[in-house]
Amino acid sequence: MAISCGKCGRQYDVTLFEFGRTINCACGERVGFEHKLVLPEAGEIKFFADVNVARLVRWLRAIGIDTWWEDAISDADLVRRAIRENRFVLTLDKRLTQEWRTDNVLLLKSEKPLEQFAQVVGHFKLKLPAEFFTRCLVCNSLLKSASAEEIAANAPPRIRASQEEFSYCPNCEKIYWEGSHTRRMRTAVEDVFNRLTKLN
Ligand SMILES: [Zn+2]
Ligand SMILES: [Zn+2]
Repeated sequence: MAISCGKCGRQYDVTLFEFGRTINCACGERVGFEHKLVLPEAGEIKFFADVNVARLVRWLRAIGIDTWWEDAISDADLVRRAIRENRFVLTLDKRLTQEWRTDNVLLLKSEKPLEQFAQVVGHFKLKLPAEFFTRCLVCNSLLKSASAEEIAANAPPRIRASQEEFSYCPNCEKIYWEGSHTRRMRTAVEDVFNRLTKLN
């Protein structure tokens, strides 16, 4: 099967356009067709963050959203994997939105992680979760709860003495507890949601 350039009629093999890839025709026209992302019904929204928005990732994970990130992944692999795994791509790279005609890419406007977070929350109408920190900020796995005794070997004694409830990541073994850092993040997240509520 062939796809024709809308301007000059040159023909290209359909396999060139897999996953919404577009190409530059010799006449200067951009050729390609839309790849529609079909999200599973009632499925939870998932993201694949581009290399350039690494610092946005922890904010989305903090509100429990499945957000994948990898360094050193090519644009082609990023788009392909995102489509296969039903993830929306978040990127600062305008070129990516031009080279791939797919509806699952959101171009972010700000360089600042919290502004990017606000854009994603507003765009996808994300909800403030009942519970924060259910997902590992480092590796994206769902956290499990543990008592002080259970994680005794891994938590600093000072923390063990002052806390009773901990969460830990079964994948990368990072331990989480309520402290000034989590409070700061929570406040920043709530500020974003409050700001968006006022706008609407
Ligand atoms: Zn052409
Ligand atoms: Zn982890």
